[in-house]
Amino acid sequence: MSFKFFSDILFPVTCPVCKDVVVPRGRRICGECKAVLPYLNGPVCFSCGQPVSKDTDEYCDSCAGRKRAFERSVSVFSYTALLQRMIGDFKFRSRRDYFHFFADELEICYKHFYPGCQIKALVPVPIHPSRKRFRGYNQSELLCRELSKRLDLPVYDCLKRQRKTAPQKTLSPEERRKNLFDAMSFEEPKEFVNADYKPECVLIVDDIFTTGATSEACADILKMNGIERVYVLNIATGNKIN
Ligand SMILES: [Zn+2]
Ligand SMILES: [Zn+2]
Repeated sequence: MSFKFFSDILFPVTCPVCKDVVVPRGRRICGECKAVLPYLNGPVCFSCGQPVSKDTDEYCDSCAGRKRAFERSVSVFSYTALLQRMIGDFKFRSRRDYFHFFADELEICYKHFYPGCQIKALVPVPIHPSRKRFRGYNQSELLCRELSKRLDLPVYDCLKRQRKTAPQKTLSPEERRKNLFDAMSFEEPKEFVNADYKPECVLIVDDIFTTGATSEACADILKMNGIERVYVLNIATGNKIN
């Protein structure tokens, strides 16, 4: 009998949607609950991955006519009230075990959108050390570590959060990007310094993509420090809660 068999008995998997124990054993979400999740199956913006209304629209209104700091961003789900709760449980309410489910979905999305992109490493979005101490983990780092095993890519943990940012809700996307840019710094991870190797193309993994200010601030710093191409992968995108 496998270790997984015993661990499922000792620690049954609870569904991230209804929170009941998932049956049959070995699954991470109930079939009915998976069916109600707002997967982004329709047409999306080729740059930021937000839904667009027509198949023929290449870019959304906020990307049309401007170059983003990253090459492309894609997300698994639309950011609805349900996703807000699920990600909130994962991020703030100690349900770190949900990362298995999110990692499953991110892996599928990665393999669908990014084959042939020559991505060489995964970059976590940093949170301030005091926040990490309080929460016990950084959700982006947790997802990167899990995807690293599945995709056989190293984690390039080079972005550091130097200081906290004030609440950013009232700021414009450009102001947020600048604020975050100023709050972060770049530090070559030791294992890469020792190996004398810098990945030229990386993937940022994050939970929510709204205006893209965070991803762009990260991409700005990465590109200033010799990374040539930056892709982004998120659990959910959108700025409207419904
Ligand atoms: Zn369920
Ligand atoms: Zn867009």
